[in-house]
Amino acid sequence: MERWIDFSRDRRMLCGACGHQWRVDLDWIDRWERGGEKCPGCGLTCEHEDAPRVTVDPDEPALDDDWVVTVSWYHTSTQPDWPRRDFDPAAVLTAETRMRMGGDERVAAWAARQRAKALHIGTYEAAVHNMLRRIRDQADRGNQFYLYRVHLRPSVVVREGWLVDPSDFVGDVVLDEVCPPGVGVARYLNYHETPAGSPWR
Ligand SMILES: [Zn+2]
Repeated sequence: MERWIDFSRDRRMLCGACGHQWRVDLDWIDRWERGGEKCPGCGLTCEHEDAPRVTVDPDEPALDDDWVVTVSWYHTSTQPDWPRRDFDPAAVLTAETRMRMGGDERVAAWAARQRAKALHIGTYEAAVHNMLRRIRDQADRGNQFYLYRVHLRPSVVVREGWLVDPSDFVGDVVLDEVCPPGVGVARYLNYHETPAGSPWR
């Protein structure tokens, strides 16, 4: 089953100061980010620490555990064979880089951390937005991208509720930190890979 693709889906805002929640369209978000809109509840603008942020709509279908395993999810990658089980992130390092990283033991520990990262999947829109962001902001302009379409195993255990984007500053998520033992999938609202936070990745 496919979710209806809509690149301009409305967003739900939640004000951190007054708790007001309301729906906006992407034009509103655009004006908001340039300081042209305020919280209708308390008048805060986007510069404030407790400023409203995009939140998850209570009617969001992905909050339904059964629904999550019936739809297709997407991922864009420059890797032609994502996700690889025998992925060795150290394979591309030169001898000089390995030395700079502190030698073989350090490199092995780094590689183990890289392999422990969670795989991200999301809506078609979020996957495409992420590809465009990488082309724009990172050195992926000339790279070939691949679109992956994924189904979750029907028996997968989904973590209850949803998380605020748990990724670190380079966008990595450590699997054990978001998925306790026995849990295979965690939902989160992505704040930095798509405009104005797009559920879900
Ligand atoms: Zn407010």
